[in-house]
Amino acid sequence: MKMRNLGLLPVPVFYTERVPSLAAGGAGQGAPSKGGVPWFAPVILLRPECHGNEGILQHELEHVRQWWTSFFLTGGLVILNLCAVRVAFGETFWQAAFLGLWFSWLAHPLLYRASRRYRRWSEIRAYRVQLRYPDTRGVKMSLSAAAELLAGPRYRLGLQFKEARSLLAEE
Ligand SMILES: [Zn+2]
Repeated sequence: MKMRNLGLLPVPVFYTERVPSLAAGGAGQGAPSKGGVPWFAPVILLRPECHGNEGILQHELEHVRQWWTSFFLTGGLVILNLCAVRVAFGETFWQAAFLGLWFSWLAHPLLYRASRRYRRWSEIRAYRVQLRYPDTRGVKMSLSAAAELLAGPRYRLGLQFKEARSLLAEE
């Protein structure tokens, strides 16, 4: 296990063979996944051969950033709502707050699985970051290679190669 920092937040990075079974994206579909963020925690899982692959690591760090962003955004909304209806909850206020916290904690993986639009946004951002960093051989992933993965069956985004390529290219 290694630690990486995302601003002030420490992010544990685990190297394990069990990536496909634990990662959030559709496991076992399309090309086998080399890394991922599991559905239950904002940590990074990478296959052992990804040691030194800064591109993939940065891709997954971007997903961890998305996790914390959705946690704080939805957490804020939940708290505001709970305050607004505090009277209605009465004695059960703290139970409701606890449930709300769980919902916020899982907001990123839930949205990622449930919403094609969120998944598309999330992966485009992650691949744009990955394109800026080298892999284990010191080579940056090409735009076409990223577009091929993005349009592939793994992400179920309903994108054609050309469309994926232009989405990745525009900034
Ligand atoms: Zn991704």
